[in-house]
Amino acid sequence: MISEELQPRVLLFAMKLGYQTRAFDEAAKNLGVELVFVTDRCNRLDDPWQDRAIAVHFESPEEAAHVVMKEQAGRRVDGVLALGDRPTTAAAYAARGLGLLHNHPTSVEACRNKFRMREVFREAGLPVPWFRSVPLKAIPEPALLEIRYPCVLKPISLSASQGVIRVSTREEFLTGAARLKHLLESAEIQATREANLDRMMVEGYLPGREVAVEGLLTGGELRVLAIFDKPDPLEGPYFEETIYVTPSRLAETEQASISKSFAEATRALGLIHGPVHGEFRLNRQGVWPIEVAARPIGGLCARAMRFVMDGNPEPIGLEELLLRHALDLPGKEGQREEPASGVLMIPVPASGILEKIEGVDEARRVKGVTGLEITARLHDYIAAWPEGSSYLGFLFARGGKPEEVEAALRAGHSRLKFSIGQRLAVQHPVTQRL
Ligand code: ADP
Repeated sequence: MISEELQPRVLLFAMKLGYQTRAFDEAAKNLGVELVFVTDRCNRLDDPWQDRAIAVHFESPEEAAHVVMKEQAGRRVDGVLALGDRPTTAAAYAARGLGLLHNHPTSVEACRNKFRMREVFREAGLPVPWFRSVPLKAIPEPALLEIRYPCVLKPISLSASQGVIRVSTREEFLTGAARLKHLLESAEIQATREANLDRMMVEGYLPGREVAVEGLLTGGELRVLAIFDKPDPLEGPYFEETIYVTPSRLAETEQASISKSFAEATRALGLIHGPVHGEFRLNRQGVWPIEVAARPIGGLCARAMRFVMDGNPEPIGLEELLLRHALDLPGKEGQREEPASGVLMIPVPASGILEKIEGVDEARRVKGVTGLEITARLHDYIAAWPEGSSYLGFLFARGGKPEEVEAALRAGHSRLKFSIGQRLAVQHPVTQRL
């Protein structure tokens, strides 16, 4: 047992208590690290965290940092990590106040504002589509904005592709903008008190294949942990994710271009330390950064990555790798293990009440499938994209080759049947528990 003064302490800023925080908790226990949870969901906390959680409001990041510093006064803090987009800014302010190596708050703020991010990329000479920030209150006639089609409408500060809509005509633009306005004005989204809920981002649609990239910055140097191919075409009109598979099947030269673009994008944003997650599109014009976030891959998807550490017979998870990195412990340079691996974010076929789930055991029995977590709750309302932002669950597979993993995920998915009742459908409902 390490004495309290010697035990490293890490602050974990997170929105919810779920798989990811539990995985961090376990990794911290293994490492003899004390984890302090900072959240704006204290009223919903389960017991194990109650006495170790600091309650803040993420929409006021500087105030949140102040609360954290007051609560931690006189105690050692060795590292700060943030999960999900919303807590990243508060984490950056807190790290600055505590004198810890971390990203500057303005860099993290730019990651949280899609308009600002495009400006930063443009200023740095990175490829960007044309883009505008447009008020939603009285949606301007598209012709006045010199809109070209196809284009993409999206919220400025939300995540998980919520509210992202591709449109190809003036009529679709007006309908899409009204739908986005309705979503951003909903009680649930208003309750987040995010900035810029009265505007949308409009930008040129970028055709091409998409990849997601997980990276780790150390003093400004980017190390790519994994490039995930997204084998399903993501052409809209809505952009719910489906399959991620790593290693990438793209040519080495394309992978090198992606890594280069990721490094340039993080440098342009001024990100210097800790986990980063990026989305990129590739076409004949090159690699286009869609977005970069100053946080690790979301929730359960982290399970699709394991890292080999010298002297450790078992691979470690992303959570342990990030804790080791935050504390500058050996093993932080662990490489992703050899086998191919992937995750399917189980799409929501329609908005409605989730009435029945069938085929779970059959899906788990598919060769190559290593796990299935249904995260949606029976009898809850579940929203499909673009209003939605939560998947029905996550299916995992591993295998020798990426194509085997992709095939296992498709086979597993085909065994699953979700019955969604339409009886409570309202026009353009948003995610809410009824
Ligand atoms: P979020 O932060 O909500 O995920 P993004 O800006 O990353 O929002 O967009 C979500 C998804 O929508 C992207 O991963 C991509 O598939 C699609 N998308 C967004 N912008 C564009 C664009 N300009 N061209 C083509 N696809 C886009």
